[in-house]
Amino acid sequence: MSHSILNTTIVGSLPKPVWLAEPKKLWAPWLLEGEALAEGMQDAVRLVLREQESAGIDIVADGEQTRRHFVTSLIEQLDGVDFANRKTVRIRNRYAADVPMVVGPVARTKPIFVEHARFLRAQTDRPVKFTLPGPMTMVDTLYDGYYRSREKLAREFAKILNAEAREIAALGIDVIQFDEPAFNVFMDEVRDWGIETLETAAAGLGCKTAVHICYGYGIKANDDWKKTLGSEWRQYESTFPLLAKSKIDQVSLECANSHVPLELIELLRGKDIMVGAIDVASAEIETPEKVAQTVRAALKYVAPEKLYPCTNCGMVPLPRAVAQGKLKALAAGAAIVRKELAQR
Ligand code: ZN
Repeated sequence: MSHSILNTTIVGSLPKPVWLAEPKKLWAPWLLEGEALAEGMQDAVRLVLREQESAGIDIVADGEQTRRHFVTSLIEQLDGVDFANRKTVRIRNRYAADVPMVVGPVARTKPIFVEHARFLRAQTDRPVKFTLPGPMTMVDTLYDGYYRSREKLAREFAKILNAEAREIAALGIDVIQFDEPAFNVFMDEVRDWGIETLETAAAGLGCKTAVHICYGYGIKANDDWKKTLGSEWRQYESTFPLLAKSKIDQVSLECANSHVPLELIELLRGKDIMVGAIDVASAEIETPEKVAQTVRAALKYVAPEKLYPCTNCGMVPLPRAVAQGKLKALAAGAAIVRKELAQR
């Protein structure tokens, strides 16, 4: 890692350039096709890597420049899935989305993101993170017309994810992160089979493993949902003790402008903590001092070598200049606190 403490990283997505997809839009369709699309994706990955490096981010990622959607882009490439006949379902009990349909036994007959991961690894000397959806969030982002059991399907996805993740880790990727926003909604399922399927997906990778749990992008359905959660968001309270006992190395939580009580971090004793210090639901760019305040507050509950200043969630819906400003603020805020700690 670049520093011995407070290494910065991002959760996942970054805005796409205007020539690749329509800006400021979630799940925007590609503006290129065929070979031009493949080349365009690679150029976008190069671009976001340079932007993260120049901002001073320590553990960089591809910003999901090769994916239209963080879940369906994987599901659509599996056998047993009909992605042409899409269905509308409610995701995380919150918003309607057009999703692929499972019509038979799911199987991974070819590598899915492995070539993208290889390209990413070759483009930077910094430690790299690669993100994959988690099994529960996958199950929640499709219409199941075959298994008729979220648990059964999650167990199948966990095996598929593990096969994919093993090939990605073998390329020299430093961190593989599974995105499980569904962990903040279906707490009983998290306990019953969510943690177990996540561990299956992350088993034996030989790199650091992470799970990202969040309150979502800054879209209206999420903002409306957050208003129903009361003055303290305690969703993590039931999940963190289970994750503390799991083999997952790193866990994220939202700390910037959220109502999450930071003492919940103590429930994750022993784990690396990705501290969300950038609000992705606001276009206002944090000052480095604001980031530093969030990091200092979290330091009451986690040692600096285990604290990774991070974004709350993905930044794909934000204007590019805003996202870039936030990356710089994140790195600068971490640097302020690093300096303070060195002077003690
Ligand atoms: Zn998120």
